[in-house]
Amino acid sequence: MVIRRYERPVTLDEAAALILEEGGLPLGGGVWTALNTRSVGLAVDLSRLGIDRIEDQGDAIAIGAMTTARSLELSVLLAREFGGVFASATGHIVGVQLRNVITLGGSVAGKYGFSDLVTLLLALDARLIFHNGSAIGIEEFLLAPRDKPFLLTGVTVKKGRAAAYQSLRVTANDFPVLNACASFDGEGWRLAVGSRPAAARLCPQAASHLGADPAPDPGAAGRSGAQAAEELTFGDDLRSGAEYRRTICPVLLERAILEVSR
Ligand SMILES: Cc1cc2nc3c(=O)[nH]c(=O)nc-3n(C[C@H](O)[C@H](O)[C@H](O)COP(=O)(O)OP(=O)(O)OC[C@H]3O[C@@H](n4cnc5c(N)ncnc54)[C@H](O)[C@@H]3O)c2cc1C
Repeated sequence: MVIRRYERPVTLDEAAALILEEGGLPLGGGVWTALNTRSVGLAVDLSRLGIDRIEDQGDAIAIGAMTTARSLELSVLLAREFGGVFASATGHIVGVQLRNVITLGGSVAGKYGFSDLVTLLLALDARLIFHNGSAIGIEEFLLAPRDKPFLLTGVTVKKGRAAAYQSLRVTANDFPVLNACASFDGEGWRLAVGSRPAAARLCPQAASHLGADPAPDPGAAGRSGAQAAEELTFGDDLRSGAEYRRTICPVLLERAILEVSR
């Protein structure tokens, strides 16, 4: 990758001006960008903005966009609030060296189909926070067209949601063939499936089958998983065909639902 101009702003206002007014490319960990972009006129390094923290906000946890996958994996705060689900969702991403670099912001902003983090955050009903303080739900963000530049500063996730994550990979650190996450907040379920290979989507009908039952039995979890396979679309790539993905979708979701129920 060739970068013709490189800036490391120290305030959000400076960073936003470089990105929104001068057309700069935000750099998170730069891992994916380095693979795909041959020439960048202006790169905006976000590492000095102080948006790399995981903080307890009382009723929610705030996670800065520059938080690395490794920090999410090892966070005691996230483990206390959400059990092992952040570690499960990040622990198979490439290897420790790259997880120390890959950022939450880069993973979410890219809307990558294969992303483990996007599936997790969708099931957790995360809200995305932008430089000007505006916020939207991750579902709305994923469905919106990619038409304008933006600066994501972090996400917030409400406490009080139990969640479990599952993925199937050809080898332990390969991209997922399929990933799935189930969560329950005391009132209802959110079920998300990603790496279809398109980006993660919710399965509202499958979730409604579970109602407000905090501990569905294996039969109900299996029926919900089967419904999810009906309501989603799947495609082919070099890791798998659509039919295989459709077949394993109920299995991963059933496992995730039962893990939350325990
Ligand atoms: C070999 C390999 C295997 C991988 N396997 C997996 C895997 O199994 N599972 C998985 O989930 N991921 C996997 N990844 C992807 C990895 O997680 C990506 O590198 C990551 O998702 C992007 O994070 P980044 O910090 O490198 O983003 P960057 O490359 O820095 O940025 C990605 C995109 O997001 C934009 N961006 C970055 N930060 C912001 C921000 N704050 N606001 C607005 N836009 C922003 C950039 O401009 C760019 O368009 C793999 C990557 C590699 C190289």
